[in-house]
Amino acid sequence: MANEFHTLLDATIQHLEGLKARGARHVAVTPATLQALRKPLAKTQAPAAGPAPAAPVKAPGRVQAGTPAARTLPSSSLPLSSKTPLQGAEKEKAMRALAARVTGCTKCPRLPESRTQTVFGVGTVHARLMFVGEAPGADEDAQGEPFVGRAGQLLTKIIETMGLQRGEVYIGNILKCRPDTPGQSSGNRKPTPVEMATCLGYLEEQIGIIQPQVMVALGATAVQGLLGQQVAGRTMGSLRGDWLEWRGIPLMVTYHPAYLLRNQSLTEKRKVWEDMLKVMAKLELPISAKQRGFFLKK
Ligand code: SF4
Repeated sequence: MANEFHTLLDATIQHLEGLKARGARHVAVTPATLQALRKPLAKTQAPAAGPAPAAPVKAPGRVQAGTPAARTLPSSSLPLSSKTPLQGAEKEKAMRALAARVTGCTKCPRLPESRTQTVFGVGTVHARLMFVGEAPGADEDAQGEPFVGRAGQLLTKIIETMGLQRGEVYIGNILKCRPDTPGQSSGNRKPTPVEMATCLGYLEEQIGIIQPQVMVALGATAVQGLLGQQVAGRTMGSLRGDWLEWRGIPLMVTYHPAYLLRNQSLTEKRKVWEDMLKVMAKLELPISAKQRGFFLKK
């Protein structure tokens, strides 16, 4: 029975990998099928003897720190809509418990010693819209809140221009610790793929608690952290402006606000604004004629 199961599992994985190689990002599965799939998996979780199960993958295409590609069906890559959402106070309680775990995290080498504090996330657990950045910088490390430096102030302005308040959305990063910068007296560095893979589970839990209707990835590093191999080799120019998907949640990729601080051209500002107009439309937020016309050359 176990052999038959593993044969079927291998065939299923082969089929899914073929779909993935042809560009498919998800497969439609009914709740009844999902339920049926869980049963044989549960039965084979702890076999009395036989080959050890392969290590689970937490996200399709994700960089795994020093592990070969895993071969089990990744339950955590199922659409979030297949999981029972938390309600009201349950969400706040779960987020507080998660924040407490992150505060004491020492999974990465060096970062626990170099950080001032972890930078968990900010906003409401009831947000319909979630922004995801790459990692805290010096300002965020000092204040314990993501996106509080100049780039963060610009993000707040963008949110307000959309007709929302910063407190109505949720803002988090792939990494919860500032990447260390040994030998540098100032400046920040990008997180490494291994650091992102190590920390990503916390963000996945945050997203699972919030279950936002729409997510926005700010910059290339953030989308690489979220989608891994699915976006390998793609440029920001080819990624931004179109809807992608993260476990069933529509994902818009746009430039990091820091890019707009470096490049003040109306054209680039308009690109980001067009991405935000798409986000507003997806969330069915009202869009005024004035909002539609921002950053258009007269
Ligand atoms: S970056 Fe994330 S995983 Fe690494 S030590 Fe900080 S909280 Fe832990």
